[in-house]
Amino acid sequence: MNNLFNLEKFYKVILPTKSKKLPNKLSPSTYLKIKNCPRQWSYENSEFINFQNKKYPPQVFLQSLIGNSIHKTIEDLIHIMKNLQCNRVNDENWNKVKKNIKSIKELFKKKSQEEILKSLNNPRNRRTKDDYEIYLEDNIQNILFKIKKLIAKIYLDNTEINSKKTSKSLDFELVKANLSEFEISSNKLNFFGYVDFFKINEKDVEIYDFKTGVEKDNDEEQILLYSLIWKFDEIHNPSSRNATKLTLIYNDKNKEISPPDDEDIETRTEKLITDVSELKNVFNANPIEAKPSLDNCKWCNVKQLCDSYWNYIDQNKLDLSNLESNTISSNIEINALHKEDDKWAGKVSFSDIFTKEKSIIIENRGEHSLNRDILNNSKEIRILNFNYYFDNEENTKNNKIVLNKFTEIFKLN
Ligand code: SF4
Repeated sequence: MNNLFNLEKFYKVILPTKSKKLPNKLSPSTYLKIKNCPRQWSYENSEFINFQNKKYPPQVFLQSLIGNSIHKTIEDLIHIMKNLQCNRVNDENWNKVKKNIKSIKELFKKKSQEEILKSLNNPRNRRTKDDYEIYLEDNIQNILFKIKKLIAKIYLDNTEINSKKTSKSLDFELVKANLSEFEISSNKLNFFGYVDFFKINEKDVEIYDFKTGVEKDNDEEQILLYSLIWKFDEIHNPSSRNATKLTLIYNDKNKEISPPDDEDIETRTEKLITDVSELKNVFNANPIEAKPSLDNCKWCNVKQLCDSYWNYIDQNKLDLSNLESNTISSNIEINALHKEDDKWAGKVSFSDIFTKEKSIIIENRGEHSLNRDILNNSKEIRILNFNYYFDNEENTKNNKIVLNKFTEIFKLN
């Protein structure tokens, strides 16, 4: 556990001390995130006085922790393979790689430990070190299978240039290289990005993007943006060569995306430059534009700070009659909060289940002491991730919500 975790002030709804403005140079992921919801990006990246002027801590999701660990394992593995002249899994030098890393399991363990440590230092984390380790131990075979499948898709060329992450020393035109986490950058576009795996020779320019999660709509747009940045990377690609192969690597498949030709590049470049200049205006507004939607808000780390979200859920009630199970996890804003015996009661301000002003009973099954303290000391709160158990027949007549280990309560008043 960390210091911030014990501070009640962390769980107060506070807006940024200093709002983050649009950066001078954007990465594809930042650009796509801002386009989805500018307010989310701004709140997630602004400075907050309660966190020593640092960024707002994100929610901790097990799947992202594993995805990040897999990504870092593969990045290291490619670098080690290249150093040991191993061009692919099981070639004549693969044994040298195995000797160096002991096993993929060991390498993954090292990377996942770093990610676990990061999570344990996050005030929003609710799992113990043991929770993480038990989960990883139970799922290690699946995870290793995933890593082996991803790495088996890599074929490295023999080349002198082999680098991991941002080599400032690579300040010349690239003709033959294998690079993992390679930084490309374009002053013309004002964009930069890190390519998971980049391969270039006299004939081809190949860009690979590893995807450890499910396929998303933006994946294709992201790799196309990498190809544009590469095209106008003044340092590494002064000859302005086009990418010839763009590959999204998923667990279960590779997806080839047609690289843009010169005409397509011109159209995309113009659109990108116009889009970015319009985004500058979005950041001049106060408050910054919010784009609430089911998809945008579901995994948003800062919904507790976003008034638009609470209005949105209130106007878009869930249809419980269509659900197969009789339990659902949701979020709610409550006013007139007070204690009643061993429970708490209040009235609904905003909810996607209950109507406004409905009386609500709160049961704290999570027995989380911080949640109990906030409930005891607040009149108005926002609750993320409570459980609601309902009877399909009775529907929402039942007015009890149940807090669990992962419930977060944010104090408004
Ligand atoms: S809750 Fe939704 S609308 Fe609000 S900042 Fe997050 S993504 Fe945007």
